[in-house]
Amino acid sequence: MGRIMTVTQTLLSVQNVTKAFPLPHGLIQRLRQVPPQAVHALNGVSLDVMRGETLGIVGESGCGKSTLARCLVRLHECDTGRVVFGDTDIASLNGPARRAFNAKVQMIFQDPYSSLNPRMKVRQILTEALSVHQMRPSAEIPARIAELLDLVRLPQDAAEKYPHEFSGGQRQRIGIARALSVEPEVLVADELVSALDVSVQAQVVNLLLQLQEQLHLTVVFVAHDLRLVRHISHRVAVMYLGKVVEIGPTEALFSAPRHPYTQALLAAAPELDPTRRTRRVAAKGELPSPVNLPQGCLFNTRCPQAFERCFKERPVLSAEGAHLSACHLPG
Ligand code: SF4
Repeated sequence: MGRIMTVTQTLLSVQNVTKAFPLPHGLIQRLRQVPPQAVHALNGVSLDVMRGETLGIVGESGCGKSTLARCLVRLHECDTGRVVFGDTDIASLNGPARRAFNAKVQMIFQDPYSSLNPRMKVRQILTEALSVHQMRPSAEIPARIAELLDLVRLPQDAAEKYPHEFSGGQRQRIGIARALSVEPEVLVADELVSALDVSVQAQVVNLLLQLQEQLHLTVVFVAHDLRLVRHISHRVAVMYLGKVVEIGPTEALFSAPRHPYTQALLAAAPELDPTRRTRRVAAKGELPSPVNLPQGCLFNTRCPQAFERCFKERPVLSAEGAHLSACHLPG
């Protein structure tokens, strides 16, 4: 069952963000006068992340959820639109203000191994993070490292080991400890556990839940595993072709999905509800190319309920209470 919380204030606000990645445009294409093309990864994403919540972001691969995660921590710059943290457009941050933002909004990656220096012991990795952001005077660093290892439930002798000496789940804990070392307000977890065994996934996700409550963190949990997202999230946003098509409280969205794409996505995930096995109605057809987006509603090429208006006009998110959906169908 999804978690419930009383929503307080907006901490991160994504406002009509677009992001495209130009495709290579070589001499031959230029000679043939082929116009430049781009992968349109985000196509006007708007959502708010509330202080203290876990917001799950789901969708098929290629829907733009990882690009959105990277825009939230400014690993990608938005083409248009903006991401606002508190009351500041993060694109305007430079120098010390940008470093402070980098500490406050931390990303944890799917593969911590690739982001952990294999030649550094855990003690050096954590010392480096603490020193770069001047989190503690040198004399206090050993005690802080001991505290961080405790927080992520790793034994104290882990400090003297190299990343290759740990299992995948333990390495993910080191990645979390490094993110926590700079005392963030927000953790953006991109497919945090998808490379781990199912039993280890549960341990890491439960650790994240405990840390969130203990440290009053705000978490953006990007994943394709609907079961995990339902377990951990207060609210869920569903993305399709670089747009949010539905967003709402977890249980409302899972028990009464409003958007035809969300309905198809949930129906195609029998692990959520074994009684659904017999009425599997996944979205038909392939995800359209993000290079040539459909006119009108982005889901119109696969939607069983599409009608004339859907091919002319792109729907915007409209609310029914706290539950928003972007569809022309009434109700
Ligand atoms: Fe389907 Fe039309 Fe709704 Fe899009 S707007 S989801 S095509 S009914």
